[in-house]
Amino acid sequence: MAKMNLRGMTAEDEYPDLSKHNNHMAKVLTKDMYKTLRERVTPSGYTIDDVIQTGVDNPGHPFIMTVGCVAGDEETYEVFKELLDPVIEDRHGGYKPTDKHKTDINPDNLKGGDDLDPAYVLSSRVRTGRSICGLSLPPHCTRGERRNVEKLSIDALASLTGDLKGKYYALKDMTDAEQQQLIDDHFLFDKPVSPLLLSAGMGRDWPDARGIWHNDSKTFLVWVNEEDHLRVISMENGGNMKVVFNRFCTGLTKIEELFKANGHKFMWNEHLGYVLTCPSNLGTGLRAGVHVKLPKMSEHPKFEEVLKNLRLQKRGTGGVDTAATGGVFDISNADRLGFSEVELVQMVIDGVKMLVEMEKKLEAAGCIDDMIPAPK
Ligand code: ADP
Ligand code: MG
Repeated sequence: MAKMNLRGMTAEDEYPDLSKHNNHMAKVLTKDMYKTLRERVTPSGYTIDDVIQTGVDNPGHPFIMTVGCVAGDEETYEVFKELLDPVIEDRHGGYKPTDKHKTDINPDNLKGGDDLDPAYVLSSRVRTGRSICGLSLPPHCTRGERRNVEKLSIDALASLTGDLKGKYYALKDMTDAEQQQLIDDHFLFDKPVSPLLLSAGMGRDWPDARGIWHNDSKTFLVWVNEEDHLRVISMENGGNMKVVFNRFCTGLTKIEELFKANGHKFMWNEHLGYVLTCPSNLGTGLRAGVHVKLPKMSEHPKFEEVLKNLRLQKRGTGGVDTAATGGVFDISNADRLGFSEVELVQMVIDGVKMLVEMEKKLEAAGCIDDMIPAPK
């Protein structure tokens, strides 16, 4: 491992003030650990200060417990494992350094999912991330690496056919109005205004080499160089999560084959599953979610408990940094690691069905006390 130039400063001099912090990194990091880790660097030059910067700058978040650290390359998770192993364990429900992750993207293993009530479920979506081996991740990549990710993506995606045939739109070639329309329609990532992303270095050189690829019907989309090299998304209006997951699995498998055929693998190992920028996304990287109307249920004192027991998470409909409006929430799986893709989508299908049943019961002025699920 290469040695750092520490400029004559000690760990004592450099240790961040984490006294007001509430994120996973701040809970785990100690001065002793920092002292050990600041002498290390990954092959592409990522340091412990780079890893933790976003968590140092952002003590907390109003809606979610954040992780407080990011990876700059595939090796980050190994080189800084004294910090990252416990963060992963904390964030992923006790997932141990010796645990092995399971992958299952066979949609035939899913039960039901084509019958979420569209009167409540407005849209369904499944996304994941993928990282291309040998290139640094968005917090740390150079302009050249980022452009390489874009080029490799355009080359691979150009070979998709049939329903999946689509086109790439570079951010730099879009007008502000076109971008805003895609954001408002929930197809495109927002500009990096979130301090979590900016402190992690993900806004550098914006909008160079960022863009979105999508099929003609905008039901299969790939974000290029946002938080991850690739974000692969399947979505449509209504409550047919089965169809959405089917398309997700088919498209994702094809994309992986196309990258492979061009000589590029995705970062993956048995322990961490798919390796992504944020430790919260390791494993499947999968977030299956619906926009669902829950005006009554969300006011119920047991709402948080029910979500927790169903292993679900809530966000606002404008994305992770937004609050819900008008009783409509983005409800998705809280886990990424330790459960397979199929298992996570199943949890969302079963959990959302139950939430909608509870909403209906409350609408009819009924009591839901006997419907509260036990922890999964
Ligand atoms: P991600 O986990 O994919 O990064 P974000 O919370 O950052 O999700 O949201 C990204 C965009 O995806 C936002 O515009 C959000 O409104 C949209 N989105 C997320 N889930 C859904 C859904 N079920 N239906 C429609 N749009 C969604
Ligand atoms: Mg996001």
